[in-house]
Amino acid sequence: MTDLRITEIFYSLQGETKTVGLPTVFVRLTGCPLRCGYCDTEYAFHGGEKRSQQSILDEVASHQPRYITVTGGEPLAQPNCLPLLTALCDQGYEVSLETSGAITLAGVDPRVVTVMDLKTPASNEVSRNLYENIGHLSRQDQIKFVICDRGDYEWARFKIDEYQLTDKVDEILFSPSFGQVDGKELAEWILADNLPVRLQLQLHKLLWDDAAGH
Ligand code: SF4
Repeated sequence: MTDLRITEIFYSLQGETKTVGLPTVFVRLTGCPLRCGYCDTEYAFHGGEKRSQQSILDEVASHQPRYITVTGGEPLAQPNCLPLLTALCDQGYEVSLETSGAITLAGVDPRVVTVMDLKTPASNEVSRNLYENIGHLSRQDQIKFVICDRGDYEWARFKIDEYQLTDKVDEILFSPSFGQVDGKELAEWILADNLPVRLQLQLHKLLWDDAAGH
C-alpha cells in the first residue's frame, strides 16, 4: 500500500526557494513531529484525507505542471512519501521536497531537489536537527534558516562555517520569521557581513496574505 494522508493539493506560485515565482503544484502531506514557534501550517498537523498514490498523481497531472513541491507538515514523517517522490520524478516533473531536517534524507530519490531547514535556537526545535542529513545533500539542494532574531542570525552564520555549507549546496536561504524580524533589517545584516546567502521573503504572503490555497 502506498496511501498517504494529504492535507491539500493546490496550484500556485512558488513562494520561496530557487524557483520562487514559478507556477507549481503543492502536495501538502499531513502531520509533523515538530512544533516550531513560528509554524504557519498548524492546520496540517492533524486530519487530512487518506489518498492513494494514483489519485494524488491524477490530481497533480490535472494541472499540467512542470514544478511540484512536496511539503507539509513534515512530509518525510510518512514513509510513503519516498515512493511518491519517485513516482512524481518518473512522470518527468521537476520535484522539490521541503523538509524540517529532523528526519533522515536517506532514501530520497536523487532527482529530487531537497530544501532542508536547519532549525535555529529561537524556533524551539534546534535539538531536532539531524546534522548527518548534510551528508545526504548535493549541490542542487538548498538549506534554509528561518531567522527569528539576531541570535539566530549569528547561530546560522556559525553553522555555515562549521559545516562548510557553501561547499555542500548551491543555495543557502535566509528567511525572516514573519512578524519577528524585519526583512530590511535582515538584509542589512547580510550585507554588512557579505554573507553568501539568499534573502527570501515569502511571496505567497506578500501576494495573498497567506490565504488558504496559496
Ligand atoms: S517543521 Fe515545519 S510544519 Fe513542522 S512545526 Fe516546524 S514549521 Fe511547522
